[in-house]
Amino acid sequence: MKNITLLFMLFISTISNAQFPYELPKLDYNYDVFEPIIDSQTMKIHYNNHHKGYVTNLNKALENAKFKNETLENLFLKMDSLPLAIRNHGGGHWNHSFFWKTLRKEAIFDTTTNLSHQIIRQFGNIDSLKKNIIESGTKIFGSGWVWVVKNHNNQIEVCSTSNQDNPLMANQKCNGKPLLGIDVWEHAYYLKYNSKRGEYLSNILNIIDWQKVNQRFDQ
Ligand code: MN
Repeated sequence: MKNITLLFMLFISTISNAQFPYELPKLDYNYDVFEPIIDSQTMKIHYNNHHKGYVTNLNKALENAKFKNETLENLFLKMDSLPLAIRNHGGGHWNHSFFWKTLRKEAIFDTTTNLSHQIIRQFGNIDSLKKNIIESGTKIFGSGWVWVVKNHNNQIEVCSTSNQDNPLMANQKCNGKPLLGIDVWEHAYYLKYNSKRGEYLSNILNIIDWQKVNQRFDQ
């Protein structure tokens, strides 16, 4: 009986975050968990101000829209015909929810996974993939995200998007199933790293939940 209640609660919590009105998802950790790589003040502001702002503004933008009950993933597919506020805040909410779930303090890269085998086939080794991510993330002009996606040929690709766009949105050059995404907006690193975005990227790659990334690759 307890298990059924738990499953039901999980179901409800998934639902409440997957459709209008959207809610700020709970974090599975404290703000200081990634110190010194991500300082707790940055975490707190990033989550409580920035992410919360995207959720609030997304709900406002959807309030009177006739398509408000469609999933975000569905709306992403027809993004070009929707108001810009939905693109920016819908992307903002989805990207950050995904980002928090991709980080893990005790990050271990398991070399026996399908993901690992594919990385070795395409990049030679994990360090070479990481180098690609750092390069791609450093090159983004202005605000955006660097992604690792599984593309339509089941290949791993490193690419980037501007602002709060993501690889699920229609007509993106960076397109496919997101495996991992790293926020390179200044609000994600500036308090601690100032203008050293490359150093932030290089450090944050030490707290990626590769187990989660591998699950996404396999699914
Ligand atoms: Mn952000």
